[in-house]
Amino acid sequence: MTVSASHSLHLNYESKCSRLHGHNWRITVFCMAKHKDENGMVVDFSHVKRLIHGRLDHGNLNELLDFNPTAENLAEWIVGQIPQCYKAVVEESEGNVAMCVDEQMTVGVPAALLL
Ligand SMILES: [Zn+2]
Repeated sequence: MTVSASHSLHLNYESKCSRLHGHNWRITVFCMAKHKDENGMVVDFSHVKRLIHGRLDHGNLNELLDFNPTAENLAEWIVGQIPQCYKAVVEESEGNVAMCVDEQMTVGVPAALLL
């Protein structure tokens, strides 16, 4: 999904990223479950979209989130929003990508299945 949102970063060094600016964040959410639910799903895509896109799109991340909205922190927040999510990839701009993996969820799962 793509989320259009602004942010400014609180950094301990000089950076243009400290000024308010926007991105079209490309976000990929990876979910897993031992068993699908009675609807045959791990999680409804529209539920994921509502939780992430619905809350952040066309917003200022500094106002919507209570942490410094770096791509890394955003990926971590996304993993925490969806119980079935074990990995989130956040592309702030082309080639600038952060990823968070919940290693507790992936214990015992073959690495080849976690692409
Ligand atoms: Zn930025």
